[in-house]
Amino acid sequence: MSLTGFTMESSSETEKSPELSQEQKIRIEANRKRALEIREQKEKTAKLAKVMMSTQSKKLVDSGAGFFIDEEELIEEKKKEEIIVEESPLPTQDQHLKCIKCNKSFPFSYLSKNFDLNVCDTCKEINSDEYDLITKTDAKEQFLLKDCDFDFREPTLKFITKKNPHKNRYGEMKLYLKCQIVERAITVHESLEKLDEKKELKLVNLHKTRQRNYEKKLQNLRKEARQGSKKLADFHKHEYGEEHYDDNEDKYFKICKTCSHKIEYEEL
Ligand SMILES: [Zn+2]
Ligand SMILES: [Zn+2]
Repeated sequence: MSLTGFTMESSSETEKSPELSQEQKIRIEANRKRALEIREQKEKTAKLAKVMMSTQSKKLVDSGAGFFIDEEELIEEKKKEEIIVEESPLPTQDQHLKCIKCNKSFPFSYLSKNFDLNVCDTCKEINSDEYDLITKTDAKEQFLLKDCDFDFREPTLKFITKKNPHKNRYGEMKLYLKCQIVERAITVHESLEKLDEKKELKLVNLHKTRQRNYEKKLQNLRKEARQGSKKLADFHKHEYGEEHYDDNEDKYFKICKTCSHKIEYEEL
């Protein structure tokens, strides 16, 4: 019995037999739903298989949108990838990228896929030190960049995410391509020399601020000490002990028995 036949039969059965019991009706309805579900699932699978086959044979690349669709991703995230395939125009062979290092055409690479940088994997391998990654935190600090310099200034900077090895509960950290960060820093600060000047100025200002804060703190401490001793004096009259002589200073001093207040004086 075909799926369609079954569905039709069960629906006509419902029409022809008004004397069916409630239990029978429920069972028929359940069967009909299940049949529909099975058909839907089969259609989905067929569609996906078609998408996967076309991907396999053509090795689809979408350089324009900045992502590459491959078979593995399809298997991993069937539904998500299906939507992407449906939405993006099918790229053709001539949309392959050209490496800015070796001028050879290539379909995709780690750098093109993740950072929109047209450098093939071979060239990345050879010049690996040119393609170091940097965390967003370090990039901000070393190149005096703000969030908007990453996320709003065009073109927005691409990044990959990685689990933060130090602060696991803070989730993922963003890794940028250092050469793109340097480029961005030059755009923001005009030149790397200007950046250095700004960093130096920032350091000087930081030092000044710290100095100011330190002096303020000291002032407050002195004030507190004055207020403290005044308060103490309010409810207690010093009761000094014996007179001592300090031969280093050639001074006499007395110490209060209660609060250890010390008065010094020279013998006249
Ligand atoms: Zn290359
Ligand atoms: Zn006292």
